[in-house]
Amino acid sequence: MVEPFQTLYPDRVSLFVCGPTVYNYPHLGHARTYVVFDVLAKYLRWTGQEVLYIQNITDVDDKIINRAQEEKISQKDLARKFEREYIKDMLSLGIDSVSYHARATTHIPEIINQIERLVGIGVGYITETGVYFNIDSFPRNGELSGQSKDKRISRVTDTKKHNPADFVLWKRGEYGEYTWDSPWGRGRPGWHIEDTAITEKYFGQQYDIHGGGLDLIFPHHEAEIAQMESLEGKHPMVRYWMHTGFLTVEGEKMSKSLGNFIKIQDALKTWDKDIIRYFILLSHYRSPLQVSEEGLLNAKKALEHIRAIAITDNGPYPEGRDAFIAAMESDLNTPNAIAAIHALAAHGDLEALIEYGEILGIRFLPETSAPLSILQDIRAELRASKQFEIADMIRKKIADAGIQVTDPPLKPLK
Ligand code: AMP
Repeated sequence: MVEPFQTLYPDRVSLFVCGPTVYNYPHLGHARTYVVFDVLAKYLRWTGQEVLYIQNITDVDDKIINRAQEEKISQKDLARKFEREYIKDMLSLGIDSVSYHARATTHIPEIINQIERLVGIGVGYITETGVYFNIDSFPRNGELSGQSKDKRISRVTDTKKHNPADFVLWKRGEYGEYTWDSPWGRGRPGWHIEDTAITEKYFGQQYDIHGGGLDLIFPHHEAEIAQMESLEGKHPMVRYWMHTGFLTVEGEKMSKSLGNFIKIQDALKTWDKDIIRYFILLSHYRSPLQVSEEGLLNAKKALEHIRAIAITDNGPYPEGRDAFIAAMESDLNTPNAIAAIHALAAHGDLEALIEYGEILGIRFLPETSAPLSILQDIRAELRASKQFEIADMIRKKIADAGIQVTDPPLKPLK
Protein backbone atom coordinates (compact mmCIF):
# COMPACT_ATOMS: atom_id res chain seq x y z
CA MET A 1 0.00 0.00 0.00
CA VAL A 2 1.29 3.47 -0.86
CA GLU A 3 0.83 5.97 1.97
CA PRO A 4 0.44 9.70 1.44
CA PHE A 5 3.75 11.51 1.95
CA GLN A 6 3.56 13.80 4.96
CA THR A 7 6.59 15.69 6.09
CA LEU A 8 7.42 16.71 9.64
CA TYR A 9 7.26 20.38 8.68
CA PRO A 10 5.17 21.76 5.81
CA ASP A 11 6.99 22.15 2.48
CA ARG A 12 10.29 21.02 3.95
CA VAL A 13 11.85 17.62 3.45
CA SER A 14 14.79 16.27 5.43
CA LEU A 15 16.48 13.52 3.44
CA PHE A 16 19.46 11.51 4.64
CA VAL A 17 21.13 8.85 2.52
CA CYS A 18 24.05 6.71 3.68
CA GLY A 19 27.07 7.73 1.68
CA PRO A 20 30.05 5.63 0.64
CA THR A 21 32.97 4.23 2.60
CA VAL A 22 35.75 5.94 0.72
CA TYR A 23 38.45 3.33 0.19
CA ASN A 24 37.92 2.41 -3.46
CA TYR A 25 36.42 3.68 -6.72
CA PRO A 26 32.63 3.98 -6.88
CA HIS A 27 30.94 1.33 -9.01
CA LEU A 28 27.65 0.88 -10.83
CA GLY A 29 26.02 -0.44 -7.62
CA HIS A 30 26.60 2.98 -6.05
CA ALA A 31 25.29 4.59 -9.24
CA ARG A 32 22.05 2.64 -8.82
CA THR A 33 21.43 3.83 -5.30
CA TYR A 34 22.52 7.42 -5.76
CA VAL A 35 20.73 8.00 -9.10
CA VAL A 36 17.50 6.94 -7.39
CA PHE A 37 17.89 9.42 -4.52
CA ASP A 38 19.03 12.14 -6.92
CA VAL A 39 15.76 11.71 -8.82
CA LEU A 40 13.79 11.69 -5.57
CA ALA A 41 15.39 14.98 -4.41
CA LYS A 42 14.91 16.59 -7.83
CA TYR A 43 11.29 15.50 -8.00
CA LEU A 44 10.47 16.75 -4.49
CA ARG A 45 12.12 20.09 -5.29
CA TRP A 46 10.15 20.27 -8.54
CA THR A 47 6.93 19.90 -6.52
CA GLY A 48 7.93 23.05 -4.65
CA GLN A 49 9.30 21.53 -1.46
CA GLU A 50 12.55 22.60 0.08
CA VAL A 51 14.79 19.57 0.37
CA LEU A 52 17.76 19.43 2.72
CA TYR A 53 19.59 16.39 1.39
CA ILE A 54 22.51 15.18 3.49
CA GLN A 55 24.85 12.31 2.82
CA ASN A 56 27.55 11.13 5.17
CA ILE A 57 31.00 10.12 4.02
CA THR A 58 32.42 7.20 6.01
CA ASP A 59 36.07 8.19 6.10
CA VAL A 60 37.09 6.23 9.20
CA ASP A 61 36.78 2.46 8.89
CA ASP A 62 38.77 -0.80 9.04
CA LYS A 63 38.83 -1.00 5.25
CA ILE A 64 40.34 2.47 5.01
CA ILE A 65 42.97 1.63 7.63
CA ASN A 66 43.91 -1.60 5.81
CA ARG A 67 44.07 -0.06 2.36
CA ALA A 68 46.07 2.93 3.59
CA GLN A 69 48.59 0.51 5.12
CA GLU A 70 48.79 -1.46 1.87
CA GLU A 71 49.35 1.68 -0.16
CA LYS A 72 51.66 3.18 2.44
CA ILE A 73 49.77 6.45 2.51
CA SER A 74 47.92 8.16 5.33
CA GLN A 75 44.30 7.27 6.06
CA LYS A 76 43.32 10.85 5.43
CA ASP A 77 45.04 10.98 2.03
CA LEU A 78 43.44 7.72 1.00
CA ALA A 79 39.97 8.76 2.18
CA ARG A 80 40.21 12.18 0.55
CA LYS A 81 41.41 10.68 -2.73
CA PHE A 82 38.42 8.34 -2.95
CA GLU A 83 36.04 11.01 -1.71
CA ARG A 84 37.17 13.16 -4.67
CA GLU A 85 36.69 10.21 -7.04
CA TYR A 86 33.23 9.70 -5.61
CA ILE A 87 32.17 13.33 -6.03
CA LYS A 88 33.64 13.45 -9.52
CA ASP A 89 31.82 10.29 -10.60
CA MET A 90 28.55 11.44 -9.08
CA LEU A 91 28.76 14.71 -11.00
CA SER A 92 29.62 12.82 -14.21
CA LEU A 93 26.35 10.95 -13.72
CA GLY A 94 24.46 14.21 -13.23
CA ILE A 95 24.01 13.56 -9.49
CA ASP A 96 24.16 17.09 -8.15
CA SER A 97 21.27 17.29 -5.68
CA VAL A 98 23.08 16.61 -2.37
CA SER A 99 23.01 19.72 -0.18
CA TYR A 100 25.88 18.66 2.07
CA HIS A 101 28.37 15.81 2.35
CA ALA A 102 29.16 15.29 6.03
CA ARG A 103 32.39 13.45 6.85
CA ALA A 104 32.44 11.22 9.93
CA THR A 105 35.86 12.60 10.89
CA THR A 106 34.59 16.18 11.06
CA HIS A 107 31.77 15.20 13.43
CA ILE A 108 33.78 13.58 16.23
CA PRO A 109 32.56 16.03 18.94
CA GLU A 110 28.93 15.26 18.05
CA ILE A 111 29.69 11.52 18.04
CA ILE A 112 31.36 11.66 21.46
CA ASN A 113 28.50 13.73 22.82
CA GLN A 114 25.93 11.14 21.66
CA ILE A 115 27.88 8.26 23.16
CA GLU A 116 28.23 10.15 26.45
CA ARG A 117 24.46 10.60 26.56
CA LEU A 118 23.87 6.91 25.73
CA VAL A 119 26.19 5.89 28.56
CA GLY A 120 24.50 8.48 30.79
CA ILE A 121 21.05 6.93 30.35
CA GLY A 122 22.46 3.44 30.93
CA VAL A 123 22.04 1.91 27.46
CA GLY A 124 25.72 2.24 26.62
CA TYR A 125 28.28 0.32 28.72
CA ILE A 126 32.03 0.50 28.96
CA THR A 127 34.45 -2.42 28.70
CA GLU A 128 38.20 -2.78 28.27
CA THR A 129 37.79 -2.68 24.50
CA GLY A 130 35.35 0.16 24.15
CA VAL A 131 31.78 1.33 24.59
CA TYR A 132 28.87 -0.86 23.52
CA PHE A 133 25.14 -0.47 23.07
CA ASN A 134 23.04 -2.87 25.13
CA ILE A 135 20.56 -4.05 22.54
CA ASP A 136 18.27 -5.69 25.10
CA SER A 137 17.52 -2.22 26.43
CA PHE A 138 15.68 -1.37 23.20
CA PRO A 139 12.46 -3.36 22.77
CA ARG A 140 11.74 -2.12 19.22
CA ASN A 141 14.99 -3.58 17.91
CA GLY A 142 14.33 -5.77 14.88
CA GLU A 143 11.10 -4.05 13.80
CA LEU A 144 12.55 -2.52 10.63
CA SER A 145 14.24 -5.68 9.37
CA GLY A 146 11.73 -8.13 10.84
CA GLN A 147 14.66 -10.25 12.07
CA SER A 148 14.11 -12.63 14.94
CA LYS A 149 16.11 -11.90 18.07
CA ASP A 150 18.47 -14.88 17.88
CA LYS A 151 19.53 -13.95 14.33
CA ARG A 152 20.53 -10.46 15.35
CA ILE A 153 24.21 -10.97 15.99
CA SER A 154 26.45 -7.97 15.49
CA ARG A 155 29.18 -8.50 12.87
CA VAL A 156 31.82 -7.47 15.41
CA THR A 157 32.61 -10.39 17.69
CA ASP A 158 34.25 -9.39 20.93
CA THR A 159 34.33 -11.44 24.08
CA LYS A 160 34.14 -8.29 26.19
CA LYS A 161 30.60 -7.61 25.03
CA HIS A 162 27.79 -8.59 27.40
CA ASN A 163 25.70 -9.94 24.53
CA PRO A 164 26.88 -10.93 21.02
CA ALA A 165 24.12 -8.77 19.52
CA ASP A 166 25.39 -5.59 21.19
CA PHE A 167 27.16 -3.23 18.84
CA VAL A 168 30.13 -0.98 19.31
CA LEU A 169 29.85 2.77 19.82
CA TRP A 170 33.51 3.55 20.53
CA LYS A 171 36.53 1.34 19.81
CA ARG A 172 39.39 1.81 22.18
CA GLY A 173 42.90 1.70 20.74
CA GLU A 174 45.47 3.48 18.64
CA TYR A 175 44.50 3.53 14.97
CA GLY A 176 47.07 5.88 13.55
CA GLU A 177 46.13 9.44 12.65
CA TYR A 178 42.40 8.76 12.90
CA THR A 179 42.45 8.24 16.67
CA TRP A 180 40.81 10.70 19.04
CA ASP A 181 40.75 11.39 22.76
CA SER A 182 37.47 10.59 24.47
CA PRO A 183 36.12 10.09 28.01
CA TRP A 184 36.73 6.33 27.46
CA GLY A 185 40.30 6.68 26.30
CA ARG A 186 41.78 7.10 22.86
CA GLY A 187 40.02 5.39 20.02
CA ARG A 188 37.61 5.88 17.15
CA PRO A 189 33.86 5.71 16.63
CA GLY A 190 31.88 2.63 15.63
CA TRP A 191 30.15 2.76 12.27
CA HIS A 192 26.50 3.26 13.29
CA ILE A 193 26.97 6.28 15.52
CA GLU A 194 28.30 8.61 12.80
CA ASP A 195 24.95 8.74 11.03
CA THR A 196 22.83 9.55 14.06
CA ALA A 197 25.37 12.14 15.23
CA ILE A 198 25.15 13.80 11.81
CA THR A 199 21.38 13.61 11.43
CA GLU A 200 20.74 14.88 14.95
CA LYS A 201 23.00 17.85 14.29
CA TYR A 202 21.34 18.91 11.05
CA PHE A 203 17.77 17.60 11.36
CA GLY A 204 17.13 17.01 15.04
CA GLN A 205 15.94 13.72 16.53
CA GLN A 206 13.29 13.06 13.90
CA TYR A 207 13.31 13.52 10.16
CA ASP A 208 11.49 12.57 7.01
CA ILE A 209 13.35 10.15 4.75
CA HIS A 210 16.29 7.87 5.28
CA GLY A 211 17.68 6.01 2.29
CA GLY A 212 20.35 3.53 1.41
CA GLY A 213 20.88 0.11 -0.09
CA LEU A 214 19.04 -2.97 1.09
CA ASP A 215 22.17 -4.30 2.81
CA LEU A 216 22.00 -1.48 5.33
CA ILE A 217 18.66 -2.36 6.95
CA PHE A 218 20.40 -4.75 9.33
CA PRO A 219 22.44 -4.09 11.33
CA HIS A 220 23.11 -0.48 10.35
CA HIS A 221 19.67 1.11 10.23
CA GLU A 222 18.38 -0.98 13.13
CA ALA A 223 21.33 0.29 15.19
CA GLU A 224 20.64 3.90 14.17
CA ILE A 225 17.04 3.60 15.33
CA ALA A 226 18.10 2.03 18.64
CA GLN A 227 20.61 4.81 19.30
CA MET A 228 18.43 7.78 18.44
CA GLU A 229 15.12 6.56 19.81
CA SER A 230 16.73 5.45 23.09
CA LEU A 231 18.29 8.85 23.55
CA GLU A 232 15.22 11.01 23.23
CA GLY A 233 12.36 8.53 23.33
CA LYS A 234 10.94 10.04 20.16
CA HIS A 235 9.44 7.55 17.74
CA PRO A 236 9.82 7.19 14.82
CA MET A 237 13.28 8.59 14.18
CA VAL A 238 12.48 8.40 10.47
CA ARG A 239 9.07 8.69 8.85
CA TYR A 240 9.92 6.91 5.58
CA TRP A 241 12.62 4.36 4.90
CA MET A 242 13.62 3.88 1.28
CA HIS A 243 15.92 0.97 0.47
CA THR A 244 17.27 0.29 -2.98
CA GLY A 245 17.55 -3.25 -4.32
CA PHE A 246 20.97 -4.47 -5.35
CA LEU A 247 22.52 -3.97 -8.70
CA THR A 248 23.75 -7.47 -9.48
CA VAL A 249 26.25 -9.14 -11.81
CA GLU A 250 25.28 -12.65 -12.80
CA GLY A 251 22.94 -12.80 -9.83
CA GLU A 252 25.45 -11.56 -7.26
CA LYS A 253 25.52 -8.14 -5.60
CA MET A 254 28.07 -5.87 -7.24
CA SER A 255 30.48 -4.97 -4.46
CA LYS A 256 33.92 -3.67 -3.76
CA SER A 257 34.73 -6.57 -1.48
CA LEU A 258 33.60 -9.26 -3.97
CA GLY A 259 35.73 -7.61 -6.65
CA ASN A 260 32.99 -8.04 -9.31
CA PHE A 261 32.51 -4.34 -9.83
CA ILE A 262 32.49 -2.06 -12.85
CA LYS A 263 33.81 1.36 -11.97
CA ILE A 264 31.53 4.23 -12.89
CA GLN A 265 34.46 5.83 -14.70
CA ASP A 266 34.88 2.74 -16.89
CA ALA A 267 31.19 2.40 -17.61
CA LEU A 268 31.10 6.05 -18.72
CA LYS A 269 33.71 5.32 -21.38
CA THR A 270 31.16 3.16 -23.24
CA TRP A 271 27.77 4.42 -22.11
CA ASP A 272 26.90 8.04 -21.63
CA LYS A 273 25.32 9.17 -18.39
CA ASP A 274 21.84 9.45 -19.90
CA ILE A 275 21.92 5.79 -20.92
CA ILE A 276 23.12 4.68 -17.49
CA ARG A 277 20.43 6.72 -15.75
CA TYR A 278 17.74 5.49 -18.16
CA PHE A 279 18.85 1.89 -17.56
CA ILE A 280 18.71 2.35 -13.77
CA LEU A 281 15.36 4.12 -13.75
CA LEU A 282 13.75 1.53 -15.97
CA SER A 283 13.49 -0.70 -12.86
CA HIS A 284 11.67 0.15 -9.67
CA TYR A 285 14.20 1.13 -7.01
CA ARG A 286 13.16 -1.60 -4.60
CA SER A 287 13.71 -4.39 -7.17
CA PRO A 288 17.05 -6.01 -7.89
CA LEU A 289 18.63 -4.84 -11.12
CA GLN A 290 20.79 -7.15 -13.19
CA VAL A 291 23.41 -5.22 -15.12
CA SER A 292 24.32 -6.50 -18.57
CA GLU A 293 25.59 -5.16 -21.84
CA GLU A 294 22.30 -6.16 -23.43
CA GLY A 295 20.32 -4.19 -20.84
CA LEU A 296 22.41 -1.08 -21.39
CA LEU A 297 22.17 -1.48 -25.16
CA ASN A 298 18.38 -1.74 -24.94
CA ALA A 299 18.35 1.41 -22.80
CA LYS A 300 20.45 3.16 -25.44
CA LYS A 301 18.07 2.11 -28.23
CA ALA A 302 14.98 3.15 -26.27
CA LEU A 303 16.49 6.55 -25.54
CA GLU A 304 17.48 7.00 -29.18
CA HIS A 305 13.92 6.13 -30.17
CA ILE A 306 12.52 8.85 -27.87
CA ARG A 307 14.98 11.38 -29.29
CA ALA A 308 14.10 10.38 -32.85
CA ILE A 309 10.37 10.94 -32.39
CA ALA A 310 10.51 13.99 -30.09
CA ILE A 311 10.91 16.47 -32.94
CA THR A 312 7.74 18.42 -33.57
CA ASP A 313 6.18 20.40 -30.78
CA ASN A 314 2.47 19.63 -30.55
CA GLY A 315 1.87 21.39 -27.24
CA PRO A 316 0.85 19.84 -23.93
CA TYR A 317 -0.35 16.24 -23.72
CA PRO A 318 -2.20 16.29 -20.38
CA GLU A 319 -2.74 12.51 -20.09
CA GLY A 320 1.00 11.95 -20.42
CA ARG A 321 1.80 14.64 -17.86
CA ASP A 322 -0.71 13.20 -15.39
CA ALA A 323 0.70 9.71 -15.90
CA PHE A 324 4.24 10.92 -15.22
CA ILE A 325 3.26 12.66 -12.00
CA ALA A 326 1.07 9.77 -10.83
CA ALA A 327 3.99 7.39 -11.36
CA MET A 328 6.44 9.58 -9.44
CA GLU A 329 3.94 9.99 -6.60
CA SER A 330 3.49 6.24 -6.36
CA ASP A 331 6.61 5.29 -4.37
CA LEU A 332 8.83 6.74 -7.09
CA ASN A 333 7.66 4.39 -9.79
CA THR A 334 10.23 5.41 -12.39
CA PRO A 335 9.47 2.55 -14.84
CA ASN A 336 5.93 3.91 -15.16
CA ALA A 337 7.30 7.46 -15.36
CA ILE A 338 9.48 6.37 -18.30
CA ALA A 339 6.44 4.78 -19.97
CA ALA A 340 4.78 8.22 -19.65
CA ILE A 341 7.87 9.79 -21.22
CA HIS A 342 7.40 7.55 -24.28
CA ALA A 343 3.77 8.67 -24.56
CA LEU A 344 4.80 12.33 -24.22
CA ALA A 345 7.40 11.86 -26.96
CA ALA A 346 4.88 10.16 -29.24
CA HIS A 347 2.46 13.07 -28.74
CA GLY A 348 5.15 15.72 -29.20
CA ASP A 349 4.87 17.36 -25.75
CA LEU A 350 8.40 18.73 -25.93
CA GLU A 351 7.97 21.13 -23.02
CA ALA A 352 7.14 18.24 -20.66
CA LEU A 353 10.03 16.20 -22.02
CA ILE A 354 12.45 19.00 -21.18
CA GLU A 355 11.01 19.58 -17.72
CA TYR A 356 10.67 15.93 -16.71
CA GLY A 357 14.03 15.23 -18.31
CA GLU A 358 15.55 17.60 -15.75
CA ILE A 359 13.91 15.64 -12.92
CA LEU A 360 15.18 12.30 -14.25
CA GLY A 361 18.50 13.86 -15.25
CA ILE A 362 18.15 12.63 -18.83
CA ARG A 363 18.05 14.61 -22.09
CA PHE A 364 15.05 13.34 -24.07
CA LEU A 365 15.14 15.79 -26.97
CA PRO A 366 17.58 15.46 -29.85
CA GLU A 367 20.57 17.72 -29.53
CA THR A 368 19.88 20.79 -31.59
CA SER A 369 22.95 22.59 -32.68
CA ALA A 370 22.90 26.30 -33.43
CA PRO A 371 23.56 25.76 -37.18
CA LEU A 372 20.60 23.37 -37.34
CA SER A 373 18.19 25.79 -35.75
CA ILE A 374 19.48 28.56 -38.10
CA LEU A 375 18.84 26.29 -41.09
CA GLN A 376 15.35 25.56 -39.78
CA ASP A 377 14.64 29.29 -39.47
CA ILE A 378 15.81 29.83 -43.05
CA ARG A 379 13.57 26.99 -44.22
CA ALA A 380 10.60 28.47 -42.38
CA GLU A 381 11.16 31.79 -44.19
CA LEU A 382 11.58 30.07 -47.54
CA ARG A 383 8.36 28.14 -47.02
CA ALA A 384 6.50 31.24 -45.95
CA SER A 385 7.55 32.89 -49.22
CA LYS A 386 6.61 29.71 -51.12
CA GLN A 387 10.16 28.84 -52.14
CA PHE A 388 9.42 25.19 -51.49
CA GLU A 389 12.02 23.76 -53.81
CA ILE A 390 14.95 25.29 -51.94
CA ALA A 391 13.31 24.56 -48.55
CA ASP A 392 12.91 20.89 -49.51
CA MET A 393 16.45 20.71 -50.77
CA ILE A 394 17.71 21.90 -47.37
CA ARG A 395 15.45 19.41 -45.60
CA LYS A 396 16.87 16.59 -47.71
CA LYS A 397 20.42 17.66 -46.81
CA ILE A 398 19.48 17.69 -43.12
CA ALA A 399 17.82 14.26 -43.46
CA ASP A 400 20.96 12.91 -45.21
CA ALA A 401 22.84 13.94 -42.06
CA GLY A 402 20.52 11.65 -40.06
CA ILE A 403 18.20 14.29 -38.59
CA GLN A 404 14.48 14.13 -39.23
CA VAL A 405 12.66 17.40 -39.78
CA THR A 406 8.88 17.59 -39.79
CA ASP A 407 7.31 20.83 -40.90
CA PRO A 408 4.31 22.30 -39.13
CA PRO A 409 1.37 22.96 -41.47
CA LEU A 410 1.60 26.31 -43.25
CA LYS A 411 -0.74 28.96 -41.90
CA PRO A 412 -3.66 29.58 -44.28
CA LEU A 413 -3.11 32.66 -46.41
CA LYS A 414 -5.35 35.59 -45.59
P1 AMP B 1 29.40 1.41 0.54
O1 AMP B 1 30.37 2.17 -0.27
O2 AMP B 1 29.56 -0.06 0.42
O3 AMP B 1 29.42 1.90 1.96
O4 AMP B 1 27.95 1.70 -0.04
C1 AMP B 1 27.40 2.98 -0.18
C2 AMP B 1 25.96 2.88 -0.61
O5 AMP B 1 25.85 2.23 -1.88
C3 AMP B 1 25.08 2.06 0.36
O6 AMP B 1 23.80 2.66 0.44
C4 AMP B 1 25.01 0.73 -0.31
O7 AMP B 1 23.86 0.01 0.07
C5 AMP B 1 24.95 1.13 -1.77
N1 AMP B 1 25.41 0.03 -2.64
C6 AMP B 1 26.61 -0.58 -2.62
N2 AMP B 1 26.63 -1.59 -3.51
C7 AMP B 1 25.42 -1.62 -4.13
C8 AMP B 1 24.81 -2.43 -5.14
N3 AMP B 1 25.44 -3.42 -5.73
N4 AMP B 1 23.54 -2.12 -5.51
C9 AMP B 1 22.85 -1.11 -4.95
N5 AMP B 1 23.37 -0.32 -3.98
C10 AMP B 1 24.64 -0.56 -3.56
